[in-house]
Formats: sequence, structure tokens, C-alpha cells
Amino acid sequence: MVTLIGMNINWIDTDNQTVGSLSSYTGVQAAGSPVSMKVIVSGTGGDVTKNSYIRNNIPNTSITNQVVSLAKSGTPMVVFGNGSGPRVLIVAGVHGNELPSQIAAMKLINYLNGKQIRGTVYIVPFVAPSITAKNIRYWNGKNLNRVTNVAGTPTNKILNLAKQLKIMALGDFHSTRPGGVPGKKSVFCSKSPCPTSYKIAYNISKQTGSALIAYPKCGIEYAGALEDCTNLAGIPSVTCEVVSPHGTVASGSVSGSYYQMLTLLRYKTMI
Ligand SMILES: [Zn+2]
Repeated sequence: MVTLIGMNINWIDTDNQTVGSLSSYTGVQAAGSPVSMKVIVSGTGGDVTKNSYIRNNIPNTSITNQVVSLAKSGTPMVVFGNGSGPRVLIVAGVHGNELPSQIAAMKLINYLNGKQIRGTVYIVPFVAPSITAKNIRYWNGKNLNRVTNVAGTPTNKILNLAKQLKIMALGDFHSTRPGGVPGKKSVFCSKSPCPTSYKIAYNISKQTGSALIAYPKCGIEYAGALEDCTNLAGIPSVTCEVVSPHGTVASGSVSGSYYQMLTLLRYKTMI
């Protein structure tokens, strides 16, 4: 129960309970790839438009309104495509106060809506809408990028879903504050066990001017990070960073993150 396609969309959470529905979804244009959306984690919902940076920077469209509405019930995932072909998962909002990538993910959803793409793009624009709404970093006091290996956490559920969907490449998009770690536009990857992680990161680095930060082996430096856990599961993954102070949106940071996302899709020749 992954993709629900068509003009009548039911949103089903991970426990297979319908949590909402749309009877007249109008975001799909006839020429575009099929689009569907659903809640993939419950207990994380919130009104992301309570965050004025989100409210003032995301496109004002009907598909935006549908994602925002869905996010009140939990972690939303938007799917472009029918599950076939190359399958890429784009994630933002692991840290609720890292705003550029969450806004960029919404721009990407709007860009892909009505477009014919090759394969299937899965986008999670807000991992935990409740913390995005409050503009805070942690969910229930937890750093979600250190607990992907803990059963039942939102990032752990995303890991399991990525395995179930047979995702072929995953990008986790963050922002780093000036003077923080790494404190620069960059892309993290590892060479083992997924050499493709390095290849993807190398490409993003070249195309976007992001510093390449490559580890020989994953799971050591950042145990419990989403990227590390998905690489360990055999899904080639990278973490991308743009520079912006936490809780706000620095000039150029949204477009920087957006371009990193597009580059990942272009690497897989999906757009
Ligand atoms: Zn982060």
C-alpha cells in the first residue's frame, strides 16, 4: 500500500487506517506522471504554515495546500510515477529548524506536478511537521538523524519504507549554520558498502559546487544517521547541506538545496 493513484485519493497511514481523503484532486495534469500522496508516519503531524518562513516561501498552489493539509495528520510523502523505473527518495526536514531544504522540497513537488518523468520520485518534504511548525530541531527531544537505527522512530520508518519500495538512490537534504559542522555547502557520502553513494555525491559536488565529504565506510562517523542506515541497507544515499542559520532562511539557500535535488534526479536521468 504504497501508491494510490487516480482522481480519488485516500490517505492511508502506516497502520493502514485511512486518515483523510480527497474526492476531487486536481493537481494532476493529463500529460504528467501520476501523482499520489499519503501519510507514512503518524504522531508527527503539525501545521507547517504556523512557521512563517515556510508559509512565506512555499509556492501558493493547490498541490501545496494538499500537502500542507495532509501534514497535519503525520509525515507526508508525495509520489510522482507508478513505482516503476528508477526510484529515488528525497527527504527534507529531519531537523525541523533546517528550513531551506523543506521549502526546496515543496518547490520540487510543484515543479514535478504535471511533468512527465522517467521512473518514480518519492518526496518527503517534512519528516516531522510538528517540529517544522514550531521551528525546532528535535522531535520529542530526539535528534532524528541519530535514531534511524531505533525501531519505531520516524526516520526508522522511512528506512523501512525505502527498503520496501526498493529505492535506488536517496538524498537527505539539510542545512548547516555558518560556523557549524560542516558549515559549508556540501555533500556527504561513503564509499562502502555502496560505492554508488560516492558516485552520486561526486556528481552533485561537481554540478552544484558543493564540497565533497566522503567517508571510506558508513555507519561509523554518524551512527543512526538516515544516510548511513540506508547505505548500510544497500540503498546508495547522500546527505546534502546548504548554509543557513537554523530557524531561518539565508539568501540563496533554498535555490542551492533545490539545485542539489534536481541534480540527484538528473543523475538518474529522471528529468
Ligand atoms: Zn540537519
